[in-house]
Amino acid sequence: MTSFQHTAHPTRVVFGTGTLDRVADEVERLGRGRVLVLASADLAAAGDRIEKVLGPLVVARFDDAAMHTPVEVTARALEVMRGAGADCVVAVGGGSTTGLAKALAVRSGVDQVILPSTYAGSEVTPILGETADGRKTTRSSPDILPETVIYDVDLSAGMPVPIAVTSAVNALAHAVEALYSPDVDPIVEWLALDAITRLGRGLRRLPAEPHAQEVREDLLHGAWLAGTCLSAVGMGLHHKLCHTLGGSFDLPHAPVHAVVLPHALAYNAAAAPDVVRRIAAALDVIDPGDVPGAVHDLVLRAGGPVALSELGMAAGDLERAVDLAVEHPYPNPAPLTRAGIAALLREAWEGNRPATADGVRTTRITRTVLDTLSGTPDPRLHALMSDLVKRLHAFAVDNDLTQAEWEQGIDFLTRTGQMCSDVRQEFVMLSDTLGLSSVVDVLANSRTPDSTASAVLGPFYLEGPPELPQGVDITGGFGGTPLHVDVHVTDTDGRPVADAVVDVWQSDEDGFYDLQLPELDGPVLRGRLRTDADGRLRFWSIVPSEYPLPMDGPVGAMLTATGRHAYRAPHMHFMIDAPGRRQLITQLFPVGGRYLDSDAVFAVKPDLIVDFAARSGPTPDGREVAGEWRELTFTFRLGADA
Ligand code: NAD
Repeated sequence: MTSFQHTAHPTRVVFGTGTLDRVADEVERLGRGRVLVLASADLAAAGDRIEKVLGPLVVARFDDAAMHTPVEVTARALEVMRGAGADCVVAVGGGSTTGLAKALAVRSGVDQVILPSTYAGSEVTPILGETADGRKTTRSSPDILPETVIYDVDLSAGMPVPIAVTSAVNALAHAVEALYSPDVDPIVEWLALDAITRLGRGLRRLPAEPHAQEVREDLLHGAWLAGTCLSAVGMGLHHKLCHTLGGSFDLPHAPVHAVVLPHALAYNAAAAPDVVRRIAAALDVIDPGDVPGAVHDLVLRAGGPVALSELGMAAGDLERAVDLAVEHPYPNPAPLTRAGIAALLREAWEGNRPATADGVRTTRITRTVLDTLSGTPDPRLHALMSDLVKRLHAFAVDNDLTQAEWEQGIDFLTRTGQMCSDVRQEFVMLSDTLGLSSVVDVLANSRTPDSTASAVLGPFYLEGPPELPQGVDITGGFGGTPLHVDVHVTDTDGRPVADAVVDVWQSDEDGFYDLQLPELDGPVLRGRLRTDADGRLRFWSIVPSEYPLPMDGPVGAMLTATGRHAYRAPHMHFMIDAPGRRQLITQLFPVGGRYLDSDAVFAVKPDLIVDFAARSGPTPDGREVAGEWRELTFTFRLGADA
């Protein structure tokens, strides 16, 4: 049961294109007839158009609104308004002009009709921020809330791209912080996610299609929803920091939002993982751990500012900004610490791309490369390639890789490739010895816990081994402790799997595979067998022994250079295929074998360590064996085909 409270603010909203022409109707709808028009130098033409539409309803005009609503400007505008006997203000402009309209309304009770020209969102909030003597204070009251908002896409479309970008990120910040506000409710959540989707989509397209109507419509619609979120719930770290930076260091409002948002998100990400996941979905970001970085990229690609230093903030002011930011506590997902805020502001000042949740940083070149991948049609390939590029670049950056080291790496990989042939797979061995094959294998296993654990294929598998009958001896005359293999293949319910194709391969007593012994004529200690009607398979072999990986190639050199031994624990390989069953590639390791705890390819799993039981006397099929022999019994459980 979710319980919540939600207050909807009673502003009338008119949304569309060419809606400016309805301004006279909207003033009359409020029962008002004496209008003060508020505009600014940048929007003088829009102010003139409004005057024309309003005709005789206009009694005065004021074009001097300023950012952060200084009280002196309000005093002058109030004088003009009172002098003209206005009962309504019609304001066209961004948050600054709206702020002035609100300041007049709260002092005099006049009605407000706002035509927003930016995405600030102030027009739907009952909040007013004012500056007096260099200090910005904020208050909230129903009297501040505008009666009517006319959103005209044509009007906001006149906003130059640089202003549109920062303004849209300002709106995005309202929606983001609403999602992790302690007061969030289902309506706000819904509005916020829709706002994020629209703003993200608009911001992505804005640089290439600055005049596309759908783009500007998305942004304005998103801005309205985001402003509604701002009016409904309290904001956290991001807004408080921007308030401090804007008010105390006279930095421009929307650009500060654009710079700070990725870093505030990074600060809060670990404390609000669900929110970050939902933002990732709304913004189409594949890796939720990279949402802060993706927001940084969005701003950068749209041409917005990413560094406080770019906005003119002095490095020497950072310390004081930290002091101000931690002065008054307020609710925020991650606890506010001095060190944390100081680090955040330093990153924002330098304009760094926030690291991913697992600490990966990327460079400007990385972002350019990622851009070139953005048209990859296959989404999985896109995700894998993008992440590979990010991690490779981060590897170089984090380790300060030198040219010589990089060349050595390229040479190593070249030699690894050159070493590969039909009978030698140096790349598989590289993957095995770096543990990558086993990591992939463990991932596969964790998805199929009820079937027998798999283990890496290894470099000595040969396609199409010879077909051999049940009961065969695969040793080809090689000496060693005789081993009778008597295994079963079943499904995960224990039902026998008949006619399963089982490829087996193993080393000889000295640790060599047939592929490593050029003097041998044909395959030895390997073969393809089939289970009988009971899912059973029997054959003779020898007990496998430990062996070193071949050391004559680059992988061997790598093992030597890193002081590692090259030994595999003794094991026998199995690859099992049956219709309707998932293929199983695995290895069985004799109990007590050497290197079980330090296998060079990290393939040993407890479930695969099996007693190759010591026996003497008569053998199951009557074969003559002098002295001790061993018996391997095991049941392989195959999962159903996906
Ligand atoms: P703004 O209103 O100061 O506008 C920024 C600049 O863009 C100005 O020079 C303006 O003349 C110009 N401009 C605006 N629209 C334009 C257009 N269509 N074409 C060309 N130029 C245009 O900035 P803003 O970001 O919209 O608002 C910032 C102010 O709003 C701050 O004071 C902030 O505190 C306040 N604000 C208040 C709330 C609230 O709920 N009280 C919410 C958001 C912002």
